[in-house]
Amino acid sequence: MTTVDNTIKSFEQKAEQVFERINDVSYENQKRVLEAFRKYRVSSQHFAPSTGYGYNDAGRETLESIYADVFGGDDALVRSSLVSGTHALSQCLMAVLKPGDTLISAIGPPYDTLGKVINGANGLVNNGVNYRELPIGSDGGCDLESLVRVARMKPRMIMLQRSRGYNWDRRSITIEEIEKAISVVKKESEETIVLVDNCYGEFVENMEPPMVGADLTAGSLIKNPGGGLAVCGGYVIGSQALVEKVADHLVAPGLGKEIGPSLYDLRTVYQGLFMSPHVVCESLKGAVIGAALFESTGLEVSPRWDDARGDIVQAIKIGDAAKLEKFVQTVQFCSPVDSYVRPEFSPMPGYDEQVIMAAGTFVQGSSIEISCDAPMRKPYAAYLQGGLSYQHNRFVIEELTKLAASWNLI
Ligand SMILES: *Cc1c(COP(=O)(O)O)cnc(C)c1O
Repeated sequence: MTTVDNTIKSFEQKAEQVFERINDVSYENQKRVLEAFRKYRVSSQHFAPSTGYGYNDAGRETLESIYADVFGGDDALVRSSLVSGTHALSQCLMAVLKPGDTLISAIGPPYDTLGKVINGANGLVNNGVNYRELPIGSDGGCDLESLVRVARMKPRMIMLQRSRGYNWDRRSITIEEIEKAISVVKKESEETIVLVDNCYGEFVENMEPPMVGADLTAGSLIKNPGGGLAVCGGYVIGSQALVEKVADHLVAPGLGKEIGPSLYDLRTVYQGLFMSPHVVCESLKGAVIGAALFESTGLEVSPRWDDARGDIVQAIKIGDAAKLEKFVQTVQFCSPVDSYVRPEFSPMPGYDEQVIMAAGTFVQGSSIEISCDAPMRKPYAAYLQGGLSYQHNRFVIEELTKLAASWNLI
């Protein structure tokens, strides 16, 4: 056995209780998902694609009911015509915010790709929406005092991001923290709409944002809830009225949720949701062991192995652009698809800085499959996430640990 192998075994023992917590959450989520499948009597007829307008598409309608139940909302949009997480979030913002309205991002800047949705040439600000960002709290989370102050001004919408994003200065936030933030907002301003960017947060805990009062929640199907099987799509969950508003904006006023052909087999989306609690569990275990191992080589990690987690992302501070590139390339070399490709920093649509992405994935850009991204900016941190099986995660972590050990940081 290699020494890295022994180290992994000893960390697995040390992390036993953390793993047990992850297993327990996964089991609860699996039961909730199964319950919804049984309630809506899912059968193979629901997997059949529809064409044209997609009227009376039982597969699409049942899928949306299941998503609404599992996440705790009244209604949902789950569609391939929501092309990505950014698109789903952008639809929520554009559907609700009108000239003169105010949008607040509650924990520093939102995820990179929302930058142009807000400040780009065709973005919200150029269409008359006022925009403000609150500072990141001193503990890397939500600064509740600033939130109270801004909620008193009764803004139209406050946006909370569950995951840390490509941001070393903040951390992910837990459902408990989301609940607290929402109650603080609603106490001052009942009518303010709270939007939660749920990307990378789904099934990390046993509750979801709509269960603790989020008015709108959005995410991507090629992240957690697609379970590695969904080939594209996004989701929006919320009250009936708000989901209708988003659907009217996405399609056309008056048509809303009623049209939208599935076009392709929905089995992958159903099965992906069914698998998601398990896949998220595998990803989280990889992140925990990765955090422990990378730290043992002298790298700073966030979160640490036994910290509370609100998302599946493991950040690793590399501190140097060339080493960071090597780190990300190693993830690509350990991937089942395109393992021979050498990723480099390059411009990407929606991102201001150059970005490097390892995504040797079955579905293009899927980041519930093991993947690693990094923007070209200080402190040159890698963001590692996903993994369909703990065994694959473990292999990737072993290779990354060998690389990091060769840097002789300790
Ligand atoms: C990935 C991500 C997005 C954007 O999703 P895409 O599907 O890549 O457009 C938004 N917010 C967060 C926190 C994300 O992780």
